[in-house]
Amino acid sequence: MDFLRPASWEEALAAKAEHPTAVPIAGGTDVMVEINFDHRRPEYLMDLNRIGELSEWQVGQDSVRLGASVPYSAVMDNLRAELPGLALASHTVASPQIRNRGGVGGNLGTASPAGDAHPALLAAGAEVEAASVRGTRMIPIDEFYTGVKRNALAPDELIRAVHIKKADGPQQYSKVGTRNAMVIAVCAFGLALHPETRTVRTGIGSAAPTPVRAKEAEDFLNAALEEGGFWESGKIITPSVAKQFAQLAAGACNPIDDVRGTAAYRRHAVGIMARRTLGWTWEQYRGAGRTLEGAA
Ligand SMILES: Cc1cc2nc3c(=O)[nH]c(=O)nc-3n(C[C@H](O)[C@H](O)[C@H](O)COP(=O)(O)OP(=O)(O)OC[C@H]3O[C@@H](n4cnc5c(N)ncnc54)[C@H](O)[C@@H]3O)c2cc1C
Repeated sequence: MDFLRPASWEEALAAKAEHPTAVPIAGGTDVMVEINFDHRRPEYLMDLNRIGELSEWQVGQDSVRLGASVPYSAVMDNLRAELPGLALASHTVASPQIRNRGGVGGNLGTASPAGDAHPALLAAGAEVEAASVRGTRMIPIDEFYTGVKRNALAPDELIRAVHIKKADGPQQYSKVGTRNAMVIAVCAFGLALHPETRTVRTGIGSAAPTPVRAKEAEDFLNAALEEGGFWESGKIITPSVAKQFAQLAAGACNPIDDVRGTAAYRRHAVGIMARRTLGWTWEQYRGAGRTLEGAA
């Protein structure tokens, strides 16, 4: 195995163009497990750790540009206000050691349906900045996941950053696991209220071949909130609306039975998490979180 150590982003892109099978390594918390278990024996390993810009972030007017190698702990420490859903999801990842190494770029690279960043990115709205020597393109997060552990990157492309919409309302993340830490999700649910556009977005993890949004549930809730004047009044969401939202969210799942849980359990749990996260976020919106713009 050859070890490539580009010192700059341009060098990394050139190396990836020359060796498209080279496996990038950021925190290594997925890559090294695969190598140690002999699941993967790449010809080239490409260390991205000398490229400082990948560990930086910029807070813009509408979105945060998160460098591909920014670790979860930095999101939790620095971006809780701008990216509350992702910060909550980061909290649930593994242990402090893993959160200090692993990050969103690696989660996207692996594209496991169980990755914790995905539901939060889907709910917030995000784009992946992918680059190669051919140029840069922005991949909407909804189009990024193409199959089980597959993503939309071309063989010569690298993730440079993820652009995530700044929260304009409450966000929540809920995860079912067999214990409270160091556990891959049995299933997970992210929800973001977007009062500016009067929309709700969701993300489901570990309950389909890829991370997915519960689009029918979103459409139903968006219509119900609009028709009932909920955004203006901030009144309590009726149990029948919450129940229907939960059922549609459960219906968006396409889970399998595996060692972590049965398909039926996952579907049921996603419904429960959808209802709970809706309750939590709506209470936040009704309370101190409700802005005058939201009520306008
Ligand atoms: C003990 C343990 C517990 C874990 N628990 C969780 C958990 O609770 N939740 C969870 O979601 N994950 C968990 N993981 C998995 C892992 O920590 C995450 O997926 C993490 O986000 C990976 O980030 P990384 O920087 O370490 O990626 P790496 O291992 O460096 O890379 C992961 C993949 O992304 C690719 N990649 C990395 N950077 C780039 C880039 N810039 N461009 C293109 N491709 C790139 C790599 O080639 C590789 O295919 C756990 C892992 C371990 C070892």
